[in-house]
Amino acid sequence: MTVLGAGVAGLVCATALVEAGYRVRICDPGGIPGRGVSTLAGGMLAPFSELDHLALDQLEDARMGVAWWRARAEALGFSCPARGTLVVAHHADRDVLARFEHDLERVPGCFERLNRAALRSREPTLGARFEGGLHVPGEAFLEPKVALNALAEALRASEVELCTTTAPAGDGVVVDCRGMAAAEPELRPVRGEIAFLRAPDVTLEHCVRLMHPRIPLYVVPHGGGVFAVGATMVESGDEGEVTVGSALHLLSAATLLHPGFVEAEIIALRSGLRPAYPDNRPAVHRHASGVLSVNGLFRHGYLMSPSLAAEVVRSVGASNGGT
Ligand SMILES: Cc1cc2nc3c(=O)[nH]c(=O)nc-3n(C[C@H](O)[C@H](O)[C@H](O)COP(=O)(O)OP(=O)(O)OC[C@H]3O[C@@H](n4cnc5c(N)ncnc54)[C@H](O)[C@@H]3O)c2cc1C
Repeated sequence: MTVLGAGVAGLVCATALVEAGYRVRICDPGGIPGRGVSTLAGGMLAPFSELDHLALDQLEDARMGVAWWRARAEALGFSCPARGTLVVAHHADRDVLARFEHDLERVPGCFERLNRAALRSREPTLGARFEGGLHVPGEAFLEPKVALNALAEALRASEVELCTTTAPAGDGVVVDCRGMAAAEPELRPVRGEIAFLRAPDVTLEHCVRLMHPRIPLYVVPHGGGVFAVGATMVESGDEGEVTVGSALHLLSAATLLHPGFVEAEIIALRSGLRPAYPDNRPAVHRHASGVLSVNGLFRHGYLMSPSLAAEVVRSVGASNGGT
């Protein structure tokens, strides 16, 4: 069978299909891994901290996503620490933190409050700046490019055919993971901008969220002193570079979280389009042509791909179409 697209959706689907015993070819004219929006994600695997963008009935799939990546990381030798997320706010923004806490309360026991000393014991530099915060256990993070390369390498080693052209038509079961390029009528782009910073003076080891009324921010440690600082969310299909306004917002919020970011080197400012359906829920659709489409991953491409891939495997098995 043929998987179209080697972003996170395509690579995870191909991996799951190979593990289920199918012979798979994966095609992406951009390369394997591809060069789509998956390459610029922050890499958060955050079922609970994303509750403002996820429905409660998606939680089980999201948690399965964290477990899937943790297992692959161990098997393939990349990092996917599950230290949980820290959530902080400056004193003036404590109402925003309280609202966030209220959202989390929909899942009893999914977070703990930290006083300054408890925050300091997890992240000494944050404890010096913030009165306290929240710890959300059960959340993890990874470095997207490293994880995508590891999956691509494992597929290559499993003798999966990796092709960097568009697939010829009429080639068995097709799983369409082309993201925005699938041009499905219901799909809409949600623009996101993100900064990658090298900050030797910042020692954060957790994924950290800074609550702020205008500039909610997350920082994901990517190892080697590099941090992903994201992300804007704009209802727009503009594919242009990061704007000055967004760069200022992201970078100034980062320095509000940790002054060590003032001396950081800007490695890259990147923008991309998140593919989203009207209800913002990712989905597997079987089209009349028989093509299975996996799309609409919105803010949660890494988090939700594993459960969609499992659904693809079930769907292929049910229709007995695997070759
Ligand atoms: C700033 C930002 C931060 C994000 N942070 C996170 C995060 O922390 N955690 C998280 O889970 N998600 C995050 N996301 C969301 C995540 O990046 C997306 O949901 C996900 O990458 C979508 O993956 P995809 O494989 O569907 O699309 P893509 O990565 O775009 O892959 C589609 C692929 O299809 C290929 N293609 C195009 N045309 C063809 C063709 N004709 N034939 C074959 N292949 C083709 C493209 O080359 C591309 O490689 C973030 C998004 C943004 C913008």
